[in-house]
Amino acid sequence: MQVYQGAKASPGLVMGPVRRLRHSGPGLERVVQTPGREQALLNAAVVLAKDELRLLEEAAEGTDKDIFLFQQVMLDDPGLNREIASYIAAGAGAAPAVERAAQLYAGRIEAAEDEYIRQRAADVLDACRRVVNILDGRPRTPLRLETPCILVSECIYPSDIVSIGRGMLLGVACAEGSEQSHASIIARTMGIPAVVQLGDDFLNENCAGGAVLDADNGRLILEPDETVRKDAQRRIVGSSILKKRLAALGAGPCRTRDGAHVALLASCSGPEDVELAMQAGAEGVGLLRSEFSIMAGRIPGEEEQYYFYLSCLQAAGGKPVTVRTFDIGADKSVPGLTEDSPNPALGMRGLRMSLAHPQMFEEQLCALLRAGARGPLRVSIPMVSCPEDWLRAMEHVERARRSLRRRGLVFNEEMEFGCMVETPSAALLAGDILAAGCKFLVVGTNDLVQYTYAADRLDGRFSDYFSSRSPAVHRLVGLVIDAAGEAGAPVCICGVHAGSPNQVVRYARQGVRCFSIEAASLLQVKARLLEEDLTAPAAD
Ligand code: PEP
Ligand code: MG
Repeated sequence: MQVYQGAKASPGLVMGPVRRLRHSGPGLERVVQTPGREQALLNAAVVLAKDELRLLEEAAEGTDKDIFLFQQVMLDDPGLNREIASYIAAGAGAAPAVERAAQLYAGRIEAAEDEYIRQRAADVLDACRRVVNILDGRPRTPLRLETPCILVSECIYPSDIVSIGRGMLLGVACAEGSEQSHASIIARTMGIPAVVQLGDDFLNENCAGGAVLDADNGRLILEPDETVRKDAQRRIVGSSILKKRLAALGAGPCRTRDGAHVALLASCSGPEDVELAMQAGAEGVGLLRSEFSIMAGRIPGEEEQYYFYLSCLQAAGGKPVTVRTFDIGADKSVPGLTEDSPNPALGMRGLRMSLAHPQMFEEQLCALLRAGARGPLRVSIPMVSCPEDWLRAMEHVERARRSLRRRGLVFNEEMEFGCMVETPSAALLAGDILAAGCKFLVVGTNDLVQYTYAADRLDGRFSDYFSSRSPAVHRLVGLVIDAAGEAGAPVCICGVHAGSPNQVVRYARQGVRCFSIEAASLLQVKARLLEEDLTAPAAD
């Protein structure tokens, strides 16, 4: 038995046979022809690769689609293609030219400061590997698994996960990789346990006896002994019982023992997870992070966005949906929009970014106003820190309305606009922002903790500020609750505190009756609230 420690990329515990995934295999012998012929071969291979990627994009769901779209866009990238063409012109074969250009290009991306951009290096390598395999005549049929397996490899690409049937992939264990990579994100959205950064020693071990992948603890156990197997079986059975018990709580409203109704909404990023959240019993969507629909780098136009919001409304099945306008910036970068900034979390982010790109902002507002005529949709604006910010945003809303009237398009004149409370300033000035016309408040505790404690939410060394009691944030939220109470405006709490049953009970005792929670935590919070009597003295 061998135990390897890595980092959790997607939670869960599985046990089963192991299958090694190798990304390179023998191809045809490489023969270099004239530059013109090599360029022609390359062009044909790129067309074929894009066709394959298009098929993968069609088969993928939600944000996973964007990854394959991004890879198609990468293959058309003029910079990358110029680089490849220059090697071919200098006498290199098409395949080595692509390999070399891909390495250099990915290397440059990896040097970027932004973690999200850095992670896109794997997508460039994945797309180029596909072209090279075509040029080399390597078999590119998707890995077919006959039995459900744990896949082990140096690294894993998004296409590996999507091309394997959902039920066949038990888990993923990689020597390298990171929690932020697209492959890890896909594993999380598909509910596939994954561990990264295991080091490459385990790849040389005998795995005939199968493995236990304990992703909850970032661990891979090869050839587990009887005790480890029994323990894993016990935990797997235990967690499925817990899941069933929690799922049974899904139906019906959330009422505390003293009869208070607490609305549990879901925080989502697109129609797929809206549907999952509705199945988990969410009463609506309290935060739709619209920017996740554009993370692949292309900002959809008004029409495309309009249909995207309609599909979210449809997935919510008539329940209310609050869409947040793009919160681009800080760790959510979009190539071509976000720029280097000495302190990105305090720089061009959220509303500031939208105000700097008025056409983008107004197209989004038009799409939202139109979708609002088709279902219960309201809009929140991110990173409003004072009434002036709010009024600037509303000028664009008015312009969007005028544009829709001019074009004779149907939209909801009465659609409600509210704002996120994510900075201490917004909490302190909540009453003034409401007086300026804001209709509701959504408290984002991820950023409120970050900006209150000056603790970077991306730096794991400061995670205690986010998991501990945060009395300063409680006081600020108290001010928000009071201001909202005076103005008669609703308040919803989302972010890290909304996923913690203890914090939710605390805020419920302060009078909050609406939370927006990631679907994975929703039932745990509900189970706790059902047991709680908000009128009884607090335990602490
Ligand atoms: C928050 O800040 O709590 C929030 C929900 O927004 P995001 O995590 O998207 O910044
Ligand atoms: Mg936020």
